[in-house]
Order: sequence, then structure tokens, then C-alpha cells
Amino acid sequence: MNRRYRKTIIAGNWKMNNTLTQTKAFAEEIKPIMPRGKWCNVVLCVPATNIQAAVRLFKDCHIAIGAETCHYEEKGAYTGEITAAMIKDAGAKYVIIGHSERRQYYNETDFTVNKKVHAAIEAGLIPIVCVGESLEQRELGVTMELIAYQVKCALAGVAPEKVRHIVIAYEPLWAIGTGKTATAEQAGEVCQAIRTVIRKQYGAHVARSVTIQYGGSMNAKNAAELLAQPDVDGGLIGGASLKPEDFVQIIHAANQE
Ligand code: PEP
Repeated sequence: MNRRYRKTIIAGNWKMNNTLTQTKAFAEEIKPIMPRGKWCNVVLCVPATNIQAAVRLFKDCHIAIGAETCHYEEKGAYTGEITAAMIKDAGAKYVIIGHSERRQYYNETDFTVNKKVHAAIEAGLIPIVCVGESLEQRELGVTMELIAYQVKCALAGVAPEKVRHIVIAYEPLWAIGTGKTATAEQAGEVCQAIRTVIRKQYGAHVARSVTIQYGGSMNAKNAAELLAQPDVDGGLIGGASLKPEDFVQIIHAANQE
């Protein structure tokens, strides 16, 4: 983390979990244990049906709300989809774009990720753009090239002053939901490489302002070590964000001096 230049952001990704009733119960449980007045920003990305209620439920404990994906068109015949403007209108501030599960199950490509990043920015949302390599790609030794390609595609055509506010989440596919975490060195190395890509494209000022998260089985035990890496500015957290106590432990780790 480097709080001097950029925000530390701890974001939960609830995926397809939690009904409205469960969301209310989560809010009641987390409110009394939420740390206050510290440095890190906290976000929960929730199923679309919960956004509006979550904005209201988590307002007084300063948790911002995000969506888990959006469509790139402004409107039209895309049954089942929602636009970035709809998400913004529901009160959300963030949207996850290009999560590996979307890339794997819903044909999300680097091309559609780029279109969604543009749509999110246009609507006034902060995109959390996910990039990451598979185990095979890591073993082939192409991680850095692949990540650079994904980052460049995602940000293509985005103005530098907008790139400054984007969040990038480095999520190695082999670490998501597997209980297998990247070592702090692996996470730090790739997050640093992402910042270098941004520096080369957009300059040092933009690069040092961008929040780069690590995601992949981050939990209460390993968070502090991962967040101690200078280029790891937070976490995107799946499983552990479903348990208020575990999520709060990660927030505490991000608030350490
Ligand atoms: C994720 O879904 O973005 C994620 C990192 O999941 P988990 O923390 O469960 O590995």
C-alpha cells in the first residue's frame, strides 16, 4: 500500500450469494464491528437485485456499493442485462468488469471489457477491472505479457485523467475460490508490473494514483502480508466477504500503519 498517492480499497465480491433478507442480516452484523475513521475505502459488490437496498443499509457504516458487471450499450434488446446508468441510478459507485468468471462463463473478452470500461466511466461509475492468468499461462512463463495485454486492452481509448480513478484487480485464476493464494511476492511483482504498464502508457503521475488490488483467496490470515507489498493497494475478496467478521479483519489489516 502507498496511502500517500492512492486510495486503499477493500472490495467484497458477493457473486451470486445473499438474498435481500441475508443482506439485511449481514448489515446488522457488520455495523457494530466496522472500524471507523481510518484510511481504507470499503466496497461491497452485490447482486443487482440488492443494490438499492444495500446502498441504504450500508450508508451509515461507510460501505460503498458496487455491481458485479454491466452491459456496454446504453439501452436496447439485451434481455436480462443492465446498463451502467441503471447501476448508477440505483445508487452504486463501483462496478466490477471482466471478472474471470464472466470471462469464463459469459464470453466476456478483452474487447467487451474495454467497451464496458468506457460505458462505466460514461455513467459515472468507478470500474474495478479484473485481469489475471491461468495456471497454464503462469507455468508457460507468459504471465507478464498476458497481464500487460489485458491491461492495455481494458484501458484502450480511456483519457489519462479517467485512468487515474480506475481500479485494477490482479486476480490469478488459479487463486480464485481455490484457497490457494499467490505469495505476497508473486502478488507484489504482478501489481508492480501493472503499474509499469500504466506508467509507460499514461505517465508517472497517472500510474502512481491508480489503485491496484490483489484478489484470490485473500482472507483474515494472509491479508496483512499481501497488503504490505508497496504496489498492492487493497483486495478484491470473494469468499471472505460473505462473513462479516472475516471481512472486517481484512479491513483492519488494510488500516494498519
Ligand atoms: C473473486 O471472486 O474475485 C475472488 C477473489 O474470490 P475468492 O476471494 O473467493 O478467491
